[in-house]
Amino acid sequence: MTFTNTMEVALAVRAFGAYAGDKPLEAMDIERRATGAHDVKIEIAYCGVCHSDLHQVRAEWGGTRWPCVPGHEIVGRVTEVGGHVKNFKAGDLVGVGCIVDSCGECPECADGYENYCDGMIATYNFPTEDAPGHTLGGYSQQIVVNEGYVLHVKHDEDKLAAVAPLLCAGITTYSPLKHWNTGPGKKVGIVGIGGLGHMGVKIAHAMGAHVVAFTTSESKREAALALGADEVVVSRNEDEMAAHALSFDLILNTVAAPHNLDAYINLLKRDGTMTLVGVPAEAHPAPNVAALIFKRRSLAGSLIGCIPETQEMLDFCAKHNIVADIEMIRADEVDAAYDRMIKGDVKYRFVIDTASLAG
Ligand code: NAP
Ligand code: ZN
Repeated sequence: MTFTNTMEVALAVRAFGAYAGDKPLEAMDIERRATGAHDVKIEIAYCGVCHSDLHQVRAEWGGTRWPCVPGHEIVGRVTEVGGHVKNFKAGDLVGVGCIVDSCGECPECADGYENYCDGMIATYNFPTEDAPGHTLGGYSQQIVVNEGYVLHVKHDEDKLAAVAPLLCAGITTYSPLKHWNTGPGKKVGIVGIGGLGHMGVKIAHAMGAHVVAFTTSESKREAALALGADEVVVSRNEDEMAAHALSFDLILNTVAAPHNLDAYINLLKRDGTMTLVGVPAEAHPAPNVAALIFKRRSLAGSLIGCIPETQEMLDFCAKHNIVADIEMIRADEVDAAYDRMIKGDVKYRFVIDTASLAG
């Protein structure tokens, strides 16, 4: 184990990012801060490719800070810890997800929900004192993170690449599934069988619910059953949709594009909830309020999950032998991967092998 102090020089590392929303991503050298007393330095082995990366780096959401280095599904090995770090040591397998800091003082932080803190600092594109003034994500060789935002990975090391997507796709589905009481006797729908959705199917199945996968892709019908869905509905087929009217306790909607929410709201039971986690660049058409009122249904949202819950999710997935289904890519293939994601052409998560950044 190496102890350091903050007087050490910052670290130059190779990363992959973009200088503008209409430019392809390219190799660049970035700086990481020296490992502070409460910091953990991580050699990044793999980083998952989330649709949020695409929204942000292609400037679909607005507010992108340049250069933008995306990536918040980070796994790797600890190489150095600061002198006050108790919970990690060099050599540990760890993960970093979407959050690297929060205010620590607001009511949300006091309740342990740093993911809902207005001062939450996301892993990329958020203000920081580190160069260049905003956070830079996991499409890079190394990262330095306060130990409070680092997670222990307990899966076998040979599964490490497939663990990476748990750090965002896993927790973003686990948290609402748990909050809305997914378990035996509950009928749960997962809409959009992409990176988030396929994790949602696996986790809801492991929680014991009856799981129905909704997909626009006929080609995913058999594949979704293999993920653990009890039934699959191709959502373009109105008869298949109608067969599930008034039957769901919870529908978790992960779709990354605007679409008709009423088609799903009508499938909820009385008191059922549809929780949105997808963040399309354009708004959804307004839902039919009467469909909510007449059955006391709820339309809700959910943002990733807090740090303790992320550790709980990783431990749950290790126990149930759950990892993502991945397609490994080189960093210089990420633009092509984004194009395929938009077409729904990935089963189900691209993961960057950061060894491809060397040289
Ligand atoms: P993804 O891998 O691209 O999957 C999205 C899936 O939605 C697609 O595979 C496709 O599934 C379906 N879909 C896409 N376009 C569609 C359309 N026009 N109509 C109907 N279905 C469509 O994306 P992801 O990484 O899972 O992320 C999904 C969304 O969640 C993104 O907006 C992302 O920014 C957001 N997100 C939110 C949070 C949060 O905390 N709330 C965290 C992470 C990501 P089928 O082929 O099965 O139809
Ligand atoms: Zn994400």
